Order: sequence, then C-alpha cells, then structure tokens
Amino acid sequence: MTTPLRQDSRPDLPPSPTYEDVVAASQRIAGVAHRTPVLTSRTADALTGATLFFKAENLQRAGAFKFRGAYNAIARLPEEARKRGVVAFSSGNHAQAIAYAGQLQGVPRVIIMPQDAPAMKVAATKGYGGEVVLYDRYTEDREAIGRKLSAERGLTLIPPYDHEDVIAGQGTAAKELIEEVGHLDMLFVCLGGGGLLAGSALAAHALSPGCRVYGVEPEAGNDGQRSFRSGEIVRIPVPTTIADGAQTTYLGSRTFPIIRALAEDVVTVTDAMLVDAMRFFAERMKIVVEPTGCLAAAAVLNGIVPCRGKRVGIVLSGGNVDPQAFARFLA
Ligand SMILES: *Cc1c(COP(=O)(O)O)cnc(C)c1O
Repeated sequence: MTTPLRQDSRPDLPPSPTYEDVVAASQRIAGVAHRTPVLTSRTADALTGATLFFKAENLQRAGAFKFRGAYNAIARLPEEARKRGVVAFSSGNHAQAIAYAGQLQGVPRVIIMPQDAPAMKVAATKGYGGEVVLYDRYTEDREAIGRKLSAERGLTLIPPYDHEDVIAGQGTAAKELIEEVGHLDMLFVCLGGGGLLAGSALAAHALSPGCRVYGVEPEAGNDGQRSFRSGEIVRIPVPTTIADGAQTTYLGSRTFPIIRALAEDVVTVTDAMLVDAMRFFAERMKIVVEPTGCLAAAAVLNGIVPCRGKRVGIVLSGGNVDPQAFARFLA
C-alpha cells in the first residue's frame, strides 16, 4: 500500500509560487477560462463508498486544464515579450492551450510537438493559429529545440509545467473545486511533470487544511512515485502508456519541491484501469475523458487508495482524444 512520508522528512515549501499566486491567476483568467462544472455520480459513490466530486476540466477551453496555466503565463509577460511571441513544447494539450491563449491575447506563438502526437491535437493546435514545428521524441531533445528557437527569434519559452505562472494557473482548478464543494478529505490529481499537482496542492493546503493530496501516474512511467518516495528527481526513458499527457520522464525542479512538501503520496494505475474509467465516464456520466484525464479517477475507482467514508475530489484533467482512438479503446 502507500508509504506516506514522515513529516520531519519533508522539505520546506519553496518561497514561490504561493497560494497568493494561485489567487492572482484566478483573477487573470476570470471570464476567460471556463469555470468548469463539478460532477457527481451515485454509481461511483456506491462503488467506492465515498462521496466523489469530479472537476470536469475535460470541458475546459481547448479541452484541458492547461488553458489555465498557459493563459496566466502569457498574461504575465511584459509588453515587449508579448510582441515578439512565445514558444512552447508539448505532447499536445499545452500546445493547444498556448496556441489558443496566445490567439486570445494577440501574441505570436510557435509550438514544438512530437511527430507521433495524436492527430487531433496537432490539428487543433494549427486550428488555433499556432505555427507547429514537429520533432522526433525518441531521438531529439525538445528543450534544446525550444531554446534554439527562443534565442534565434526572441521568443519567450513557456514550459508545460516547470514554471511558476503555469503552476499558479493550474492551481485555480482545485481552488474552484474546493470553493464550490467545501472541505475535502482527499484530492486526487493526475501527474505528468507536476504542474497540476503542485498547483492543486497549494490550493488544497490553503483552502482545505488536512486534505490529503495524491498524485496518480501510469504504472509504466512511475518516475514521479520513485522521485517522491526517494527525495531525488528520478529520470526514466519515455514510458509506453496510453496516457500520452503523462509520458513525461522526470518531474520539474520547481514542481518537485512543492509536491514533496505538500503531497501525501504518488500512486500508479494500469492502462487497463484507464480504459475501464474511460468507459465508465462514457456510459454512466456521458462525458469524454482522455486516457491521461482518467488517471486520478482510476486510482479511486480501483481502490488503489481506500476512500470509504471520505469526501474526495478528483480532477478530470482533459478530454482530447481522437474519436477513432476513443472508439477503439471502448470496443
Ligand atoms: C498535461 C496533462 C497532465 C499532466 O499535467 P502535469 O502538469 O504535467 O503534471 C494530465 N492530464 C492531461 C489531460 C494533461 O494534458
């Protein structure tokens, strides 16, 4: 089962970003990002014996919570930097979010995406007017490509998770959730590079003291779990999993200390559990949730962490899955 860290083995919370930054981000995105609904399901409650609150970020603009951090980070740029533009690298949802948030704020944007990113995500990014540069994720270093482009064209690099304004923006989803439903005993958040988990932990710590915050990763790529439990950032090869938004290979240097200071544990689920969760959301709750978006829910629905009798928040992080792929998963 899980092995919570002893309080005295936890590092101090880094000085920034703070919950105040999450509050400031929520003011910047107000009226622009959707205040997504909180969904409930008697069936899911009956299955788990808990009271579950699903924050439906699959219904966020551009289809994932990433719009929050992207919009906040672009809104914080000085005027000169906004004129020159931004560059982002992403397996999909951050790319779409930067493309869309940049379009809304009139900022030029270049997006670096892997050649094997889901076709729908590449098409959507282009649809939002982003200039797309493709790379081979098994042989090329996207960060190096990003640095080169930013040096050559004066673009500001906005990373998908390891950035204070991105973390603060991502924290606004959990802030809205807790403000709407009240105290939570537990909060489950999917974990890639840790922007969403770090921001959510800041919000939960401030608004629902004592709430235990769990990160959930694909079993094939448990670098976050190993990092959390060992206290050192562990790097792994690109994991093979249907959770394409969590194929990150290491946690960020800004996200990790926040997660380590505030999270309870990091747990893992299998791809089969993600498919079951996707089917549950389609059949029972009539919503499309992408595989990565099902991570947190899969941990709860499969009892990876027992939740009986608890008030439990679950972030459904995104809904961007090709309809054909979705049909294959559910077949
Ligand atoms: C990016 C993403 C994640 C992982 O978020 P991190 O901030 O990198 O941990 C999870 N789910 C979806 C749908 C995503 O797009």
